[in-house]
Amino acid sequence: MEPTPSASGERFVSHTPGYWPDATTAQWQDWKWQLKNRVTTLAALDKHLLLTSDERAGVILSGTKLALAVTPHYFNLIDRTDPACPIRRQVIPEIGEGYDSPYDLSDPCGEDSAMPVPGLVHRYPDRALFLVTDRCASYCRYCTRSRVVSGVGEQELHLDFDQAFAYLEKHTKIRDVLLSGGDALLLSDDKLEGLLGRLRAIRHIEFLRIGTRVPIFLPQRITPELCAMLRKYHPLWMSVHVNHPKELTIEVRDAFARLADAGIPLGNQSVLLAGVNDDLQTMKELVHKLLLCRVRPYYLYQCDLIRGSSHLRTPVSKGIEIIEGLRGFTTGYAIPQFVIDAPGGGGKVPINPSYVLYHDKEKVVVRNFEGKIFEYPESGIGPVLRHEEFLMH
Ligand SMILES: *Cc1c(COP(=O)(O)O)cnc(C)c1O
Ligand code: SF4
Repeated sequence: MEPTPSASGERFVSHTPGYWPDATTAQWQDWKWQLKNRVTTLAALDKHLLLTSDERAGVILSGTKLALAVTPHYFNLIDRTDPACPIRRQVIPEIGEGYDSPYDLSDPCGEDSAMPVPGLVHRYPDRALFLVTDRCASYCRYCTRSRVVSGVGEQELHLDFDQAFAYLEKHTKIRDVLLSGGDALLLSDDKLEGLLGRLRAIRHIEFLRIGTRVPIFLPQRITPELCAMLRKYHPLWMSVHVNHPKELTIEVRDAFARLADAGIPLGNQSVLLAGVNDDLQTMKELVHKLLLCRVRPYYLYQCDLIRGSSHLRTPVSKGIEIIEGLRGFTTGYAIPQFVIDAPGGGGKVPINPSYVLYHDKEKVVVRNFEGKIFEYPESGIGPVLRHEEFLMH
């Protein structure tokens, strides 16, 4: 399965047909066919990949934690023989998922305690996270909501749209609603339009967002019909989730282009993952490819302390090092904000390399990306005394 280079530059490739040589083009481009033909069993994995014993054990374990499911489109990015493949590590379970470190939590961001009604997380004063389904196109092994996502874990996601809308209507400070789950783009166009319409009918809600990994797992879902529907609900933004440059195939690039052409501003949220994207070169290639797709890198998340994810977590210093390696060395638009979602429910906290070396009432001493040192007067105009001295001369 040699990738096919694209006409517009070899940085984007298609891996079709890959492991599915018998699929017709019409089947391949049908998102329902993609969902129906997802890889969900050990037998199906064995058919395509040379599994390690650690992966085999992980698959058996996954049945009661977070389901195994990978769309054919995404599965085609997986290396057949290499267990260290960065795509493989994101979606194929392994035995490490059975180990809980002392820090691990089943609800690492304390979402359950910030839910005034089922499915609605209201942590920040002016915005709400609205969970509208527990299903995704494929399942990420490090998912922060694995307790409720996929339908096999420890909890069920209770949804009550009427209660959620009643809450949103009553709380007039909420001006921003983020649809997530699970993945909101797995809903039918009609169902999704029903939700967007109800949100738009609430006067104080001005800003709508959809958080989704569907354009990456299932680019076929981004149909012209879906885009035409979404654009009726502007201003509507989208947060997508790409972790590795290999995920940006021709099909994904084209799906992003359809969304961007529908006027939807696109931001990317990556999770920093060991053996996937925890090095500067990979991240640089990722953020550059994202800009080519008109996607602005938005957040880089330190991996949440979700149960069974310690084998995928990196030291916090790695994220700081990556940001430091980007700032000044590449386009400002390409640099995401590194954040820790504070365990237990503190929300997102920005984590930055330190560029301020000294700071008092008179001045701030800073370093630039090259390590050169500069001074800037605190007030921006210098001490008043200086000004008087100047007048006397
Ligand atoms: C991330 C998140 C948001 C949105 O945060 P922004 O910084 O505005 O992108 C809102 N609510 C919850 C609970 C979240 O976790
Ligand atoms: S797409 Fe999002 S919600 Fe779904 S499994 Fe991945 S991280 Fe979790």
